[in-house]
Amino acid sequence: MSTLTALDIVALTASCLVLEQLLELFLRPRGVLRGPLSFALGGAACWTLAATAVDIGGLDPSGVLILAAVQIVSSWVVVLGGTWMALIISYRGHLVDPHLLVIACSPAVAMVGLLATPSTRTLVVAHISGTDDGSIIRWGPAFWVLTLAAGALIGVICALAVGSTIATVPGQRTVMVLVMLMVAPAGVSWAFFVADPTSGRWSVVPPLLLSLALLGWSRLQHRLPRLAHLPITAVRVMREVQSGVVVLTPDLVVLETNAAARAMLCTRAGCQEDDLVGRLWSEIVDPVLAVLPDAGRSLTATTGRGRVLEIMVEDVGGDGTLPALVVAASDVTELAELRAHLADQATRDPMTGARNRRFLDERLPRLVSDTDRDHDASVLMLDIDLFKLVNDLHGHAMGDRVVIAIAEEAAAALPPGGDLVRTGGDEFLLLLPDTDEVAATQIGDLVRRRCAQLQFATHGAPVHVTVSAGVAQCLPGMTADDLLSSVDRALYRAKDAGRDMTHA
Ligand code: GH3
Ligand code: MG
Repeated sequence: MSTLTALDIVALTASCLVLEQLLELFLRPRGVLRGPLSFALGGAACWTLAATAVDIGGLDPSGVLILAAVQIVSSWVVVLGGTWMALIISYRGHLVDPHLLVIACSPAVAMVGLLATPSTRTLVVAHISGTDDGSIIRWGPAFWVLTLAAGALIGVICALAVGSTIATVPGQRTVMVLVMLMVAPAGVSWAFFVADPTSGRWSVVPPLLLSLALLGWSRLQHRLPRLAHLPITAVRVMREVQSGVVVLTPDLVVLETNAAARAMLCTRAGCQEDDLVGRLWSEIVDPVLAVLPDAGRSLTATTGRGRVLEIMVEDVGGDGTLPALVVAASDVTELAELRAHLADQATRDPMTGARNRRFLDERLPRLVSDTDRDHDASVLMLDIDLFKLVNDLHGHAMGDRVVIAIAEEAAAALPPGGDLVRTGGDEFLLLLPDTDEVAATQIGDLVRRRCAQLQFATHGAPVHVTVSAGVAQCLPGMTADDLLSSVDRALYRAKDAGRDMTHA
């Protein structure tokens, strides 16, 4: 006689929902745990259906035997799925390979073999009794051996899950605890079943609770995307982060490094990237980084490989409890290049590429202060003659072309270390270190001659221009302003004397 209880109805409904969820997972795979989760969902659904069918009753003994085999295989599949999951969340997923999975299934298959053979059947199912509430299976010794193995695997699952939960970052720890709380009732009811196997009262409850937990977990993945990801541990963060992290003893012996640090810092020849623990900091890093800055300070240096590294040192043992230094290293090469480019652009005139007044204000005082008995310095001021006429007769665009061409000629005449500054619309100043007045005058004449040879094509006759030049040598006791006034006066004299000439 068969009896359908409320529990059986709930179990049948849950199995159908689990199977639907399994289908959903196949159609829309989601998360790194989809493989083991599908495994566990499929196992849980079959286990629940088989246990419920036995509980409902009305089956002949061979039917009960078939359902017993289904329960054994499906519950074992659930345990394997759980183990697989636990290995993945504890970053040991690489241990799982398909061959291993086939071997892992073999104990359950062996049970089915024993069950199918009349002479060994009682090793798995010792007795089947029918009651008004359904059939009750009295399990044999082989079943209990498999149950013991399942118990051992569940122990491993718990240990790995608890270990990952402890190691994971707080944001994901709550999610992990939530999942464990969902699965826990199934584990507890399974313990009740093991303790009281003959009453039949606990045969449906463990698979039912497990099905509900897995169903909830799988459904929650859509709402809580964190469930679909691996738990992130602090160790993992350190391993994966793009910044280099090195932990050192106070006497600078390496205790721990991450991959980024090894790739960034380990530039010495013969220094194996994965062999840094126990080595001295100064032995492994580029010489420019050998001396660490004080704790709380940073150091930016260009390594022999041409990379700009920023090193920050933190004394994590500040209160004396953790005697260690943590070095955080970042490769800031691109940033440094961008900064240098922006700084360069900030001191240039966009039209001619010559330096601007901001540069002059910073550079001229240094040029003056660096000048002494052994080091001459001069300045040369150029101004285009009657430039207003060029603009008026040929237009502003032609004027611009002329200014650019004059700047090019002046830049080409610069000696090493010299600078060209655009100080006005048609006025340029050449800063000439290690150059006396005579040499500066020669440079002025050279630029003048070249500029006079320039021809700017128009619809009519080509445009010619000339420039006037003033020269001043920096004399002892002069300030930057004195030098500028001096060169300004010299230029005025050149203009006054008829233009297209160099005056000192
Ligand atoms: P002088 O020989 O005495 O120097 O005569 P000048 O006509 O060149 O007189 P001045 O140097 O005072 O004239 C400079 C002119 O340059 C005035 C201005 O209209 C023009 N100017 C200034 N900046 C620019 C520019 O960027 N492009 C062009 N096309 N013209 C400019
Ligand atoms: Mg002029």
